[in-house]
Amino acid sequence: QTQSAPTCPQHAFSVCYRSYGVAAQQEISSDRGHAVLAPFTAARQVTDSNPLVIERSEGVYVYDSNGKKYLDSLAGLWCTSLGGHEPRLIAAATNQMNRLPFYHSFWNRITKPALELSKELLELFTPADMSKVFFTNDGSEANDTQVKLVWYYNNALGRPNKKKIIARQKAYHGSTIVAASLTGLSNLHQSFDLPVPFVLHTDCPHYWRFRNAGESEEDFATRLANNLEQLILKEGADNIAAFIAEPVMGAGGVIPPPATYFDKVQAVLKKHDILFIADEVICAFGRLGAMFGCEKYNIKPDLVTIAKALSSGYMPIGAVLMGPHIAEVVSSQSNEMGSFGHGFTYSGHPVPCAVALETLKIYKERNIVDHVKSLTPYFQEGMREAIAESPVIGEVRGTGLVMGVEFTRNKSPTDLFPASWATGTYFGNQCAEQGLLVRVSGDTIMMSPPLISTKEEIQKAGV
Ligand code: PLP
Repeated sequence: QTQSAPTCPQHAFSVCYRSYGVAAQQEISSDRGHAVLAPFTAARQVTDSNPLVIERSEGVYVYDSNGKKYLDSLAGLWCTSLGGHEPRLIAAATNQMNRLPFYHSFWNRITKPALELSKELLELFTPADMSKVFFTNDGSEANDTQVKLVWYYNNALGRPNKKKIIARQKAYHGSTIVAASLTGLSNLHQSFDLPVPFVLHTDCPHYWRFRNAGESEEDFATRLANNLEQLILKEGADNIAAFIAEPVMGAGGVIPPPATYFDKVQAVLKKHDILFIADEVICAFGRLGAMFGCEKYNIKPDLVTIAKALSSGYMPIGAVLMGPHIAEVVSSQSNEMGSFGHGFTYSGHPVPCAVALETLKIYKERNIVDHVKSLTPYFQEGMREAIAESPVIGEVRGTGLVMGVEFTRNKSPTDLFPASWATGTYFGNQCAEQGLLVRVSGDTIMMSPPLISTKEEIQKAGV
């Protein structure tokens, strides 16, 4: 399928675009498209075509409003790790709704599911000692909370200038004002007056694309760590509060770190007393074949962001885990101030917490990490064997159950297809035509199938 690339896919692209249109959906769309301002969607797509309306899910499959079945190879948005219809999660939500559908966690009031979930999370995260959990609705809010926490921490320590945050080009950390600023993708900045000035971006650790001629992975990692240190020295370490990184970059194109990268980066951060925030929103809970990305890459973070697979995507929930050194300073500062002035109505909402608790239980019972490890060769090596030699595929990259496939010419990281060809979109739409939903970003296709996939389902995804 991928061997026979079209020379100019524009025509097929527009045909595929429109092919989602189905009579059943016309009642909810007009000439101006439907009434939702759709996230990360071109207005042209909304007006030129009907949306793909997904109506139901089952296992690794979703069904549209015409009854067409798709293998959902991105697990929703990298989140439905237990697939589309896990009865235990539905029961956990229903039982909690019947018992206590809402209570908040302000002013030292709390619910049992929030208490139990925080305890579970602290036990589950083993790469570094964590001692407190702050609950949010999603990953963006959690990353905003991270920035407020490190500011609060440095204010408490009498370091009011130590406030800047270093993120990386091509990172994705969410889309609120601060999270979008941490993100290193231009479409989240353009026309929004972002990034905010206290966010700086250092190199994207994509070896294939950014290595110098003859440079080894280790030398590339050394160069990037040196560049990071130069940036810190230029800005002044007294002005830099934290560095934020995804263990494997996700939405930026699925970019695993080059060998020795995180060892070298952590040494630089330690030397300059800069906190490490690990954004595990995609990587956590088995996705990489380890319970956390930090475990896989020997990262010892001060703060951790989680969301998505925390509830298998069934309920909105995110969280910040913080090390004891942060938690203690934040507690003493909040005593001083009268209270910790941050929180959301739905922080620690009992229903998502109950679903997350059940999700973690299932991960343990089903030994999800070992299951991902057993599927990894079929997914990673199988895909490389099947398509890596194709003349239109520049790189297949990933680890565990996350993968990016980038289309370029002549295996070159710089010889790109003309943007007007929309090659990635063409292939994404071809996949959809054939019953496979993938994520498309530029000329990169991304997949992160549900963690409960079987070998046969992984093979159906294209291997
Ligand atoms: N961080 C990472 C690594 C993500 O991949 C995402 C979302 O894809 C976020 C943060 C933002 O999470 P949310 O969309 O739940 O706000």
